[in-house]
Parts: sequence; structure tokens; C-alpha cells
Amino acid sequence: MSEAIPITEHTYDCVVIGAGGAGLRASLGMTSAGLKTACITKVFPTRSHTVAAQGGIGAALGNMADDNWRWHMYDTVKGSDWLGDQDAIEYMCKNAVAAVHELEHYGVPFSRNEDGKIYQRPFGGHMRDFGEAPVPRACAAADRTGHAILHTLYQQALKRDVEFFVEFIAIDLIMDEDGACRGVVAWNLEDGSIHRFQAQQTVLATGGYGRAWFSCTSAHTCTGDGHGMVARAGLPLQDMEFVQFHPTGIYGAGVLITEGARGEGGYLTNSNGERFMERYAPTAKDLASRDVVSRAMTMEIREGRGLGEDGDHIQLHLEHLGADILGERLPGISESAKVFAGVNVTQEPIPVIPTVHYNMGGIPTNIYGEVLRPTKKDPDAVCPGLMAIGEAACVSVHGANRLGTNSLLDIVVFGRAAALRARAMVTPGADQKPIAKELLDPALTRLERLRNANGAKPTADIRLAMQKTMHRDAAVFRTEKTLAEGKDSIDEIAKSIDDIRVNDRSMIWNSDLVEALELENLLDCAQATVHSALARQESRGAHAREDFPDRNDDEWMKHTIAWVDATKQVKLDYRPVHTWTLTSEAEYIEPKARVY
Ligand SMILES: Cc1cc2nc3c(=O)[nH]c(=O)nc-3n(C[C@H](O)[C@H](O)[C@H](O)COP(=O)(O)OP(=O)(O)OC[C@H]3O[C@@H](n4cnc5c(N)ncnc54)[C@H](O)[C@@H]3O)c2cc1C
Repeated sequence: MSEAIPITEHTYDCVVIGAGGAGLRASLGMTSAGLKTACITKVFPTRSHTVAAQGGIGAALGNMADDNWRWHMYDTVKGSDWLGDQDAIEYMCKNAVAAVHELEHYGVPFSRNEDGKIYQRPFGGHMRDFGEAPVPRACAAADRTGHAILHTLYQQALKRDVEFFVEFIAIDLIMDEDGACRGVVAWNLEDGSIHRFQAQQTVLATGGYGRAWFSCTSAHTCTGDGHGMVARAGLPLQDMEFVQFHPTGIYGAGVLITEGARGEGGYLTNSNGERFMERYAPTAKDLASRDVVSRAMTMEIREGRGLGEDGDHIQLHLEHLGADILGERLPGISESAKVFAGVNVTQEPIPVIPTVHYNMGGIPTNIYGEVLRPTKKDPDAVCPGLMAIGEAACVSVHGANRLGTNSLLDIVVFGRAAALRARAMVTPGADQKPIAKELLDPALTRLERLRNANGAKPTADIRLAMQKTMHRDAAVFRTEKTLAEGKDSIDEIAKSIDDIRVNDRSMIWNSDLVEALELENLLDCAQATVHSALARQESRGAHAREDFPDRNDDEWMKHTIAWVDATKQVKLDYRPVHTWTLTSEAEYIEPKARVY
């Protein structure tokens, strides 16, 4: 089979898969270090999901009020419900201020305060004095922060001679007999050709897998391709049970209304017109952490205080803010509300509902971006030649729950960290051992298997079944019963991929085949998520079990690692959470109850 397909060969020092914020920051750092770097992306770089980020990027600049990176670190550890690795969290928060200034110098058009400094708004879970009172920490370019960052990074990457391969879809990693990664096989959608990228370092920056659920705020491209490649390479995924629901997706459309809207003074009400968040989080109220707000909204709806015919949503009020503030600070969401809910935000509330928003889990890495291949003896052992960054990775700075604005920060800080690591490890232009043809076979076989798939089930049917199961059984509320049902159902759906039908056999712009490849990746993610969630008998961060309402640090302060094999069996194990900080500049933050 592999003889039949002509393969174009490329050799680089580094190859980065993904041109979102994480992939672009890593790529431009690598070329700046003199490393010949290719960046492969299935969509045009500026269409990556990073473009949709609205609210801001977190850093303790202290432009609006006193702030300190140690307070940011405290909030992040607390937000993570003590599942985050504190060495990684220290690294991120300490580097945050420099990362934002770097973006400013690259040309990101941040909004300004009266002193002409970068404007910062309040965001859920961002507090001063170790959790005492809210502090404005989200650095914002109006409500289009991700758009501004992504376009700026793309320009910088072009300026620094990153070589782009646009509308190339990566199929699988090239793994050698020693278990090292040697590159990636990709398919050029435009002309149907197959490409082999050999590199000293391969970096997965493929984003999240929100599309495993029925309603999500993420782009259609967020299909966990990197996760699937890692699973097929025999490597595990980490903490996949932790999925963030954003409190304010527009009811029916899933489109996000940024938390920045509540940061600017917006608030939620139930069908009695009550500001119910005052009961659930007396201090932080509408700006409590996302899981807290999402759960409170779900409680209100379950107890019969939802709005609408089916009593199934909540209202977000912005009308009291006035047209000037809305026009200046929240123009994008004013437009989204109009288009997707038919609402004029200056006059009426927006119908909202908790919607899947972010995947805390992903490909386990250390703070240098190196992918882990944990063993019992060494839970921090690495897989040579392979890195992962951004939402695809789990480093883990978000633990059981991500704080808003910490993901844009994660992608630039760890994108840079991966580039620094590559600079230290990779010799520019060094000879690379030839790659045996057989190493490409798994990728080519996979592509051919799906291209010729002649079963009974269209991709869309299997995908819909998966999305409905995930929404029903792996949502905000979880019990043994719903998760066990979810596991049986998702295992069966995953196996049904053997009966998939792909109608288009061509290699050029074959969206049918692209969707089948993506579905296979999503199914690995979905299985890992449900199996990990069923096993974790406690409530922590975004993983809320009605039957185990408390956090249980004695038994469960550990990372789940899940292997999904080719026969769709899932194997689980655990690795310890890092209970140390990186330097003596920060103290280890002892676990305590997480209340807002
Ligand atoms: C609506 C929305 C609003 C958000 N707002 C905020 C915010 O205000 N603040 C914040 O901190 N975070 C926010 N987030 C989260 C944050 O934006 C994302 O987590 C982050 O941008 C992810 O960046 P990334 O580079 O990891 O991935 P992405 O930006 O998703 O990029 C993934 C890249 O991988 C490529 N790719 C994927 N699979 C393949 C493949 N098989 N072959 C080739 N290329 C591939 C894609 O083409 C793309 O270029 C928001 C998220 C959403 C959905």
C-alpha cells in the first residue's frame, strides 16, 4: 500500500503541528533560535480557535490596582482545586508579566487605561492578597483579545521565516522502534499529496477537543487530533475527566459571551429575577470560578427556577451598563447577542446556559513542553523527540479547573518554553538518521482504511451519537449511574467506527475523509474522558460527582493517566501531583477548602 502513494519528504530541525497561539509562539521562538522550523496547520493560521478568545490574558501587571504574581499563583492553584502542578503554575505566573509585555512589543493592540497602560478587567477567581478581594488582572484588547494576539503572532512568525504548510492535516506521528518520535505524516488537502516531515523535535499544538460534546464554544476544528495521535503512539492522556463548562454560552447556539461581561458588571438572574449567585458565592458572586457558577446555574434550572418554555436557561443582564461601556468594552459580544439570540444588550438580558468550553486534560508534559511517558518507577519520564503545548497539553497548570485568562497565558508562556527547550536540545541542521519506510505504515494504513471505509454508518451519525452521549452523561452533574451508562454507550459508539462509511474516495478536498479522521480522534478523547470520570470517586474542580460531593485529597490528589488502545480498550493509572514549587521564591500552597 505504501508503495502506491508517492510521498514528499521534508527534513526540519523542528516541526510544529498547529498554528494557534501556542504553535505560532513556539515556531517563531524556534526560528529565532536559528532552527529550521515547519508549522503545519489544517486551517489558515488566523482561523485557529485562539482567534475567538474574548476576555483577556492574565498577568499581575498591577496597572489598575496593586497586584503580585504570587497572588496570581495562589488563585491558579486554588482554581485548579489543588490538582495543578505547583512548579508549572509558579513558572507560568512568574513569567506572565514578561509574556504580556512581549506581546505588547510584538504589536498586540491592547486597550488602555487612563494612564495609557494596558487595560485590565476583573475576571472570575482573580483576587488580591491570597484570595481576599477581586483584582483586575485580565489584560484585554476590547473583547477580541485572542484575535489581536493570534494576528500579531502570525505576523511575527512570517517575519521570522517560519515555513507554513497550510491546509495540511497531520495524520499520525512517526515513532521509531526505541519509542522516540521522529516526525509526522501529513496530507495536503489541496492537491491530495502525502508528506513526511522528519524533525529532531515534533511539537503538538493542536488545541482542545470540545467537539466531542453536543454544545460547545469551540471551533469545528477542535477535534483532539494531537490527543488521538498520542493515543495511537501508545502514550497516555492525562486528567481527561476535567472539562470546563463556561457559564454563559448563548442558549441554543453555544456561542460564548465572555466572562469579561460579568467582569464589567453584568449579572445573572433566575426566573424569580433573583441574583442567585449571592447565595452560592457570597464574596465573589457572579465572578466566582466557572465551575462554581455553572453548577449554581444548573442547580437553579434543576430546582425549577430556569427561564423559557422549558425552564432550561438563565438570564445575563448587561443593559444597566449603558450603551457607551457596551460599545467600547464589549462590542463583539453585543454583536453576537444580536446575531445569535436576537437580543439588543442595551435593552434586554441574554439567555445563557453552561456550555463546554475548555479541556483541562490533555497530553501530559513537563514545564519544558516535553511529552511524558510515565512509568511506575519514573512518573516524569519523557518521550524523546516529542513536545506538546497549549490546550492539547496538560502541563498541568489548570488542574481540575482553569481560571479564565490563564489559557492565553499558558499558550504563550509554554510556547516560549518549548522553543527555549528546543534551542537547548537541537543542533541546527544536524544530520538525522534515515527513517525506515515501515515507520510510515501506521499513518498510511489509517488513511487508506478510512478512505475506503464502506460500512453502514455515516460519520455524522456516529459523531452525533457520541456528542449526545457526552452531553447527557459527561456534563456538569455526574453520578456513578450516569457515568457507567456513559461508559458503556461511548465504548459501543467507539467500536462502531469499524462500520463507518466514507463516501468520497478522492484525496483532494475530501471533507468526508477529514471528518472521519477527526471523529476517530474525538472518540479516543471521549472514551478517555468518561472512563477517567467514572473512576474518580470525588468532586474536584470541574468534576462534580453528586454521589461523592467532597474533595478527597488522601485518595485522589493525583493525576489520572489513560491509555486508549487500537481495540478501544481503556487502561487507567495515576501519577502524583507535584507537591513542590520551582524555586524558593514561591511557597508550596497547602490544600484547603475551595470557597469563593
Ligand atoms: C470562544 C472561546 C473564548 C475563549 N476566551 C479565552 C480568553 O478570553 N482567555 C483565555 O485565556 N482563554 C480563552 N479561551 C481558551 C483559549 O482561547 C484556547 O485554549 C487557546 O487559544 C488554545 O490555543 P492553542 O494554540 O492551543 O489551540 P488552537 O488555537 O485551537 O489551535 C489549534 C491549531 O492546531 C491545528 N490543528 C489541529 N489539528 C491538526 C491536524 N490534525 N493537522 C494540522 N493542524 C492541526 C489547527 O489548524 C490550529 O491551527 C477561549 C476559548 C474559546 C473557545
